[in-house]
Amino acid sequence: MDFETRAIHEGQEPDPATGAVTVPIYQTSTYVQDAVGEHKGYDYSRVANPTRTALQICLASLEGAEHGIAFGSGIAATTTAMHLVNPGDRIVCVNDVYGGVYRMFSQVYSPKGYEFEFVSADEINSNFREHLDERTRLVWLESPTNPLLNVIDIRAAAAAAHEVGAVVVVDNTFASPYLQQPLALGADIVLHSTTKYLSGHSDVVGGFLATNDPTIAERLYFLQKSLGAIPGPFDCWLVLRGIKTLAVRMRQHCENARRVAAFLESHDSVERVLYPGLPSHPGHELASRQMRDFGGMISFLAHSEEEAVELVARTAIWKLAESLGGVESLIEHPARMTHASTADAPFAAPRNLVRLSVGIESVDDLIADLETALVRSAAATPS
Ligand SMILES: *Cc1c(COP(=O)(O)O)cnc(C)c1O
Repeated sequence: MDFETRAIHEGQEPDPATGAVTVPIYQTSTYVQDAVGEHKGYDYSRVANPTRTALQICLASLEGAEHGIAFGSGIAATTTAMHLVNPGDRIVCVNDVYGGVYRMFSQVYSPKGYEFEFVSADEINSNFREHLDERTRLVWLESPTNPLLNVIDIRAAAAAAHEVGAVVVVDNTFASPYLQQPLALGADIVLHSTTKYLSGHSDVVGGFLATNDPTIAERLYFLQKSLGAIPGPFDCWLVLRGIKTLAVRMRQHCENARRVAAFLESHDSVERVLYPGLPSHPGHELASRQMRDFGGMISFLAHSEEEAVELVARTAIWKLAESLGGVESLIEHPARMTHASTADAPFAAPRNLVRLSVGIESVDDLIADLETALVRSAAATPS
């Protein structure tokens, strides 16, 4: 079955007890047993819950995975994945990684004796083998990256990592499985913050891991119940509901982003637009090969930090907020907001960078709103 059909039906047969078309929210912590150890597959909701099972089956299918494991947040999924490695192990990570993941790696795991090397997307695409050795157990990638929208050749990076026996995790939050499927490109594990495009309505926080490796899957199911970073049934239900419209939403996000990027590229107040869909973007060709379309995230450089900070507070439809991937358009200043935790790193977000999460409102309204904010920004700047 095609993606759109599986997004609506996979793992979601009508409820056998009542015929309910939508998977119920099984708001229960425990389940009655007919005799000791005799039950219907569920004994306690940290271990398993039917609403969570439906989500795990559906989203795994969309990533082309045999196994899916849901978590209470993207960061909870990251913590759990980090329990696949041990202190002393080496982890190689793309350097413009999500700020919260960078904070966890540098301030939680690094002090415990895990060894990290942060490598630029450029270096991963050109010279990755030199950063890998037999002690490298984990390779952590994002593509497109956050907030610079760099594109990593996932197939080539995974092949290089596998030469030294490292496990490859790809954070697929920005693309969503509709646009990119990292397991098919050679990744071992795909990670999602389901908070973003998958749920799509900025009303829930969640995370997910998917894999086709049975040994990794078994360990992740064990870690899910043993570490306990699980999502509740209502949160699972919200993500499941969001996923049903993922394909139509993503098509509109991409369409709107294409128009917004072209508008920004032609504007005097904008120094540079970072969007893989623009032929001028260095990752354009690679993205065309490994993605179905270019996504709804755009970053751009204003002429100064001051202009960037003022601009993001001046739009009306574009709301000044962290996060991304919802139906509503958001604007933010990474250096002071989402990526403040990388401020002291050599690869800190540029101070004049603005990040957009392009929503699915009327694109004409979105462009008009940006135009007003940019014109006033240009007028306020002495030349
Ligand atoms: C938001 C985000 C995360 C963290 O997920 P939470 O659901 O906020 O815990 C990880 N990676 C990327 C790319 C993200 O955008």
